[in-house]
Amino acid sequence: MALIVRKYGGTSVADCEKIERVAAKALECQRAGNQVVLVLSAMSGETNKLIGFAHKITDRPNLREMDVLMATGEQVTVALCAIAIEKMGGKARSFLGDQVPILTSDAHTKARILDIPADRLRACLEMGGIPIVAGFQGVTAAGDITTLGRGGSDTTAVALAAALKADVCEIYTDVDGVYTTDPNMCPKAQKIDRISYEEMLEMASLGAKVLEIRSVAFAMRYDVPVHVLSSFTHLPGTIVTKEDKSMEERLISAVTYSKNEARITISKVPDRPGIAATIFKPITDANIVVDMIIQNTRAGDMTDMTFTIPRTDYAQAMEIVEKVAREIGAERVAGSTDIAKVSVVGVGMRNHAGVASQMFDILSRHGINILMISTSEIKISCVIEEKYTELAVRALHEGFGLDAK
Ligand code: ADP
Ligand code: ASP
Ligand code: MG
Repeated sequence: MALIVRKYGGTSVADCEKIERVAAKALECQRAGNQVVLVLSAMSGETNKLIGFAHKITDRPNLREMDVLMATGEQVTVALCAIAIEKMGGKARSFLGDQVPILTSDAHTKARILDIPADRLRACLEMGGIPIVAGFQGVTAAGDITTLGRGGSDTTAVALAAALKADVCEIYTDVDGVYTTDPNMCPKAQKIDRISYEEMLEMASLGAKVLEIRSVAFAMRYDVPVHVLSSFTHLPGTIVTKEDKSMEERLISAVTYSKNEARITISKVPDRPGIAATIFKPITDANIVVDMIIQNTRAGDMTDMTFTIPRTDYAQAMEIVEKVAREIGAERVAGSTDIAKVSVVGVGMRNHAGVASQMFDILSRHGINILMISTSEIKISCVIEEKYTELAVRALHEGFGLDAK
């Protein structure tokens, strides 16, 4: 008997018919002798719709209330799925974040999971029931509802799998696995059968939204085998697991892109010790993640500082930076949101020099200007103008030999 945590994304629970299909499959899996825990997203488009409502009222809604609002999406699907399983003669019970409970930090709209006391879920399983947990949401120690950041149902699922010591966490989505690049952008993308946690972590952090980054971090830390599969086919999918020799043989495993990028430049900053700390502390205090940073020296005691942040945090970051710039006597703050980041990822890169220059060469041959660069042991990222994203992804995919024959 295996314990399986199964997560279904928005397209897989987009209407009642699809929810009934999820219910039937869960019962079938249970009747084959397994224990099953379901984690569901909201119906596709629902979370965006809810956010849209708030933005009709104001550009900067209160984040605690945004969590109360957004958490309603998942409440609908878990209840409907439990109703469907009961109708089919099975036993099921829905659980919201505060009913499990999924205990989180109080960073509203991007809370971190701190602990999951899984006793209620275990009791439900022991009674032969199927617990159906609302993805993406949690609760603070004080009892406030939180959400985990967009795509956070993946994280709920893997964290639950870790807490329950499940045998596997299955992520059902609208593509049949992890591909060499987004198959919806590049038709020549190929499915990857097995990928290491480390590569998947880089891919997720660089925009491959098929798995949310923190879900991969949980999987890696607690050794949870993750299986990414399609809800709509019976194909084998992708296994995310520990690195093995065969994975190193690939130079590049994947090309990723992210359009959730924005760039801020502070010009003529007085160049003295402590200035970077003064600029970045209030940004990180606001839970905004700074990604790339470039500092250029000017003549005199002045420097220019350019950095990137998620586009979704741009308005808030600009407000903070403009205030700091005034305080430190910097001359000017400018920003743009029409940029994107393209990256190549692969553990094979560790043993090969020249991947970076090959990437720059491919981009230049396609007339794409590079605005910023950053590298790590297993990835190289370039910031480019957003309008070239698709061209860059396809060119890199072909240039590094990933195109399907
Ligand atoms: P769900 O709603 O099921 O969580 P998501 O939309 O969050 O699904 O994630 C699935 C999507 O991720 C796919 O439709 C695909 O467009 C996108 N994607 C981006 N990069 C990749 C990749 N490398 N492999 C597979 N899918 C990818
Ligand atoms: N419904 C949430 C979102 O759209 C969480 C998820 O689907 O994973 O971001
Ligand atoms: Mg998702």
